[in-house]
Amino acid sequence: MTTPPSLSSARAFLLDGDGVLYRGSEPLPGARAFIDALNASGTPYLLLTNNATRTPEQLAAKMAPMQLAIDAAHIFTSAQATALWLQDRYPAGARILVVGEDGLRVALSQGGFRLVDEHRQAELVVAGLDRTVTYARLAEATLAIGRGCPFIASNPDKSIPTERGVEPGAGALIAFLQAATGVTPPMIGKPEADFFHQAMRSLGVTPDETVMVGDRYETDILGAHNAGIRSAAVLTGISRAAEFAAAAAPPTWVFEDLVALLGAWRET
Ligand SMILES: [Mg+2]
Repeated sequence: MTTPPSLSSARAFLLDGDGVLYRGSEPLPGARAFIDALNASGTPYLLLTNNATRTPEQLAAKMAPMQLAIDAAHIFTSAQATALWLQDRYPAGARILVVGEDGLRVALSQGGFRLVDEHRQAELVVAGLDRTVTYARLAEATLAIGRGCPFIASNPDKSIPTERGVEPGAGALIAFLQAATGVTPPMIGKPEADFFHQAMRSLGVTPDETVMVGDRYETDILGAHNAGIRSAAVLTGISRAAEFAAAAAPPTWVFEDLVALLGAWRET
């Protein structure tokens, strides 16, 4: 066995939120201290989230009562990544029919696109999680995709853990549209390497100095592997130690929680 490199070589971090920094409305052990250490040392970091329902400002406001001092500028959502992805491929002002909430709608309008409600007006269809979606909305999206409008998905997660248990995620709504149209959309978000590369570009950092911190193997850790960066898994969320150990591309490090991770980062 080779000795893993020291985490103290990390110069930039990409962080997952749920299961890493907080669970529901409770901060996880070490989260405040870790964020305070990142802020105090001026270490570049971004919270990288597949949750496209909230704007960065809304997510920052959710974390403020937990004393997690992460401002909107340190948050990068799959909705923002979707807007950047579309800007590279479609003209400004393109008309988009959105299945999604504020986070996605605001990111696309701020990205210079026009939002429309009718399939006849649409040039593109973008889908993410929408917890108030109606059949009528899904029908408009289906008709637009059926007419040949490109279909793009902003978050592949099929389920979301909630206080009540496991509820349907964006991926489940996207599967509905896929079933109705036979079209498989490109997915923007973890574990796609693009999302990680966009984040590092906006921080101005390189893959070899960056570490992804996450709790879910198939998004955070696999995504870091796809993007060619090192990863630190924590055991405060979804995936268990055995899953990380058995993975074909395991995380570079596994820590009990952020308390242990912060200790390792501070070691010289
Ligand atoms: Mg998570």
